[in-house]
Amino acid sequence: MKIRENHSLKALNTFGLDAKARYFCTLHTLGGVRTLMTWQQEHPDLPVLFLGGGSNMLFVNDYPGLVVQVRLETLEVLGQDANYDYLRAGAGNNWHDFVRWTLEQGFAGLENLSLIPGTVGAAPMQNIGAYGVELKDHVYEVQALDWRTAELRDFSVDECCFAYRDSYFKSVEPDRWLIVAVVFRLPRQPQWKIDYAGVKEPLAGKDLNARMISDAIINIRQSKLPNPAEIGNAGSFFKNPLISLAQWATLQAQFPDMPGWMQADQVKTSAGWLIDQCGWKGKRDGDAGTYANHALVLVNHGNATGAELWQFAQSIIASVQDKFGITLEPEPRVL
Ligand SMILES: Cc1cc2nc3c(=O)[nH]c(=O)nc-3n(C[C@H](O)[C@H](O)[C@H](O)COP(=O)(O)OP(=O)(O)OC[C@H]3O[C@@H](n4cnc5c(N)ncnc54)[C@H](O)[C@@H]3O)c2cc1C
Repeated sequence: MKIRENHSLKALNTFGLDAKARYFCTLHTLGGVRTLMTWQQEHPDLPVLFLGGGSNMLFVNDYPGLVVQVRLETLEVLGQDANYDYLRAGAGNNWHDFVRWTLEQGFAGLENLSLIPGTVGAAPMQNIGAYGVELKDHVYEVQALDWRTAELRDFSVDECCFAYRDSYFKSVEPDRWLIVAVVFRLPRQPQWKIDYAGVKEPLAGKDLNARMISDAIINIRQSKLPNPAEIGNAGSFFKNPLISLAQWATLQAQFPDMPGWMQADQVKTSAGWLIDQCGWKGKRDGDAGTYANHALVLVNHGNATGAELWQFAQSIIASVQDKFGITLEPEPRVL
């Protein structure tokens, strides 16, 4: 396995930022892990970062340790029981290609998650979600390797502690577990989720199937979100904030149009709406800006640095804090 020094990550993150990895390698098979661990014992103080498609990262600085690009690309149909089909996908598979492959094989369940960039292995990290479906709805277990001991462990769905854009791997023990594969449990009698503006209209009155829904989702995503191949971005840059019922009541009295969704004893509101209200939609400072059609998406118009994008994001956070008293949290990993 080749370990490169001072390797540019520009083509490996969707913001297109020219950060350098002090050391870099690509992992194609699990056999390579032993070699890497031996190498790491000789460099014990270096941090490790697992990299998928780089679509949920903002590199503010060069990375001072070893970046391991995960390319484990196995794909297996494991079997079925009365209610589900079981599939295992290696972490390095491209997520959208995997979703389309499942649909071509006649499986259903992942269609609403079509066209999300990145890899299968990163999907559990923030429990990816879109159009009413989250990864956790269809995961059976996550197979991960302990980077400290090289032992493999199967995490049940409960052990993954999935939550809104969150998981055990993201919040409890970041960078300890290399996700090597995800086992999916797909329903043999799927229930379609199409109750979204822009999705339900083109499907009205049709005899539905999963590929049709996937096509509708692809169309709406392409009309709303910038393509990272054309304009650097990481999708939604901020999480939708959760606020207390008391704060919600106060804000609603002041801003009656403010959207909100009840979540147990809190209210989730729209980060995009808050940012829009502060006048940030389509704004730019140099090459750092927000997307003209979607205030929640931070974009690199060409040559912004990670530090400039992060500075721009901080200005957005400050103005939302100022106007609404709500602290926005970034969704991508800021490094
Ligand atoms: C245009 C656009 C639209 C998007 N839309 C959505 C959306 O609708 N919903 C949504 O949830 N997200 C969305 N995202 C965010 C992003 O696509 C997802 O978070 C995706 O899962 C990231 O995958 P990745 O392989 O690029 O991860 P990376 O950016 O490479 O990594 C993200 C995190 O996962 C870790 N990681 C990566 N691979 C592994 C592994 N094998 N083992 C352990 N840790 C690992 C990294 O260390 C890092 O902490 C969007 C992004 C873009 C650019």
